Amino acid sequence: MEQGKEFFIGLDLGGTSLKYALGTSGGDILIKDEMDSKADRPQKEVFEVIFKAIKVLREEAKTRGGFVAAIGLGSPGAVDFEKGKLKGNTPNFLHWGDAEIKKTIEAEFAIPCWADNDANVMAFAESRKGAGKGANNVIALTLGTGIGGGILIDGQLFRGTRYAGAELGHITIDYDGEPCNCGGYGCVEKYASAPAMVKNYIEKLTTAKMSIPDKVSTKIIFARAKEGEKQALETIDDTCKYLGAALASIINIFNPEIIVIGGGVADAGDEFMRRIWAATTARTMKPSLEGLKLVRAKMGNDAGVVGAICMASEMYYSQKRD
Ligand SMILES: [Zn+2]
Repeated sequence: MEQGKEFFIGLDLGGTSLKYALGTSGGDILIKDEMDSKADRPQKEVFEVIFKAIKVLREEAKTRGGFVAAIGLGSPGAVDFEKGKLKGNTPNFLHWGDAEIKKTIEAEFAIPCWADNDANVMAFAESRKGAGKGANNVIALTLGTGIGGGILIDGQLFRGTRYAGAELGHITIDYDGEPCNCGGYGCVEKYASAPAMVKNYIEKLTTAKMSIPDKVSTKIIFARAKEGEKQALETIDDTCKYLGAALASIINIFNPEIIVIGGGVADAGDEFMRRIWAATTARTMKPSLEGLKLVRAKMGNDAGVVGAICMASEMYYSQKRD
């Protein structure tokens, strides 16, 4: 039995970097850093990156007079939470398919490990330490290159029967809409993600015979909207309508207490949030709106590691009790 204070490791594996942090049982970060995740390299090398981060943090725990009690990891893709194993492939991670995350890490370090889908982990962070703290029924939506989702019911993550649930970005908002790489059509991700917003904006500029900047980003769109440019304002209005349609469906189904919006696009500010709220409430069944809050995520870039620390800590103590 290890002696001293119990610390927890949170790992956030992404297509460009592995974020890693050492935290307390309450999910407070003590130190954090990141390194290249080597997403294009063979699986063995990605695990070596993970091992390196764990070794650094294990030393840190020792220095602080304690030990690492458990490790949590958020990964892209569907993750079998019981087995801590990736189910199938992830598009931005060439050789990460079917990775045995829990088994491999536990074999190397003899420290209990839990792995989950990254959007779930972020939603968990918001529900334990962020904007959704104290709420039982939380919906988290991350707006970025894609649209990720997490659902907490009675304080617990809802993962679905085969760990493939909570794909909120793939709610159909147009029956005959654009084909999506999920196999469906007209998914909200195809209309309200950052790339979709950029595409919509370029189309509007083209129609208006206006010049198109070299690198169009959502940042540029929001900046130009602030200056009052019609095409930028219309693009944002469209995005809010698309999101509103998806959110109204989510609210009608789950009747949540709070909806937390995160990701790059959500950093656009309160005016954007007000517009999303207006577009949403215009088409939501009224009883669900009572007391409902729509807020911006609080955890920012730390959401992945904090969520992983909180998850590891909760699982560790719940197993210790049993
Ligand atoms: Zn889809």
